[in-house]
Amino acid sequence: MIFRVGFGYDVHRLVEGRPFILGGIEIPHHKGLLGHSDADVLIHAICDALLGAAALRDIGYHFPDTSDEFKNADSKKLLVKVVELINSNGYNIGNIDCTVVLEKPKLSPHIDAICETLSGLTKLENGNISVKATTNETMGFAGREEGVIAYAVATVYKK
Ligand code: MG
Repeated sequence: MIFRVGFGYDVHRLVEGRPFILGGIEIPHHKGLLGHSDADVLIHAICDALLGAAALRDIGYHFPDTSDEFKNADSKKLLVKVVELINSNGYNIGNIDCTVVLEKPKLSPHIDAICETLSGLTKLENGNISVKATTNETMGFAGREEGVIAYAVATVYKK
């Protein structure tokens, strides 16, 4: 079986007055991520990793942030569409591994809920989805809590 690997990266600003939505769940925090959609930085990185693995361009190509259709869009729906696109191009998803870079809020208590949500959206078994978190040791924009970074890798294989 031939596996292909894809990589995704995304970043969104952290601002007052927005809900903090990450990996498809809302996490209590005094700031949230700013963006055209719900700004779910983790799901966006995962979408790009999946699209990249299948050489199907990127999230901005399929869901332009200039389009009213995707204003405040629920990123969970974008991920479902990306999975459909992957499948309709003859691929299955192998596994997904991600790292989120942020100082606060602590993600550890929410990792299980995020993995369960992502598992439901991708139809992947829980053991094939990994979400990790790290701080940036207070350095740079992530360290100053001005933004959140997400990295993801995904494998896909031909059905
Ligand atoms: Mg994004």
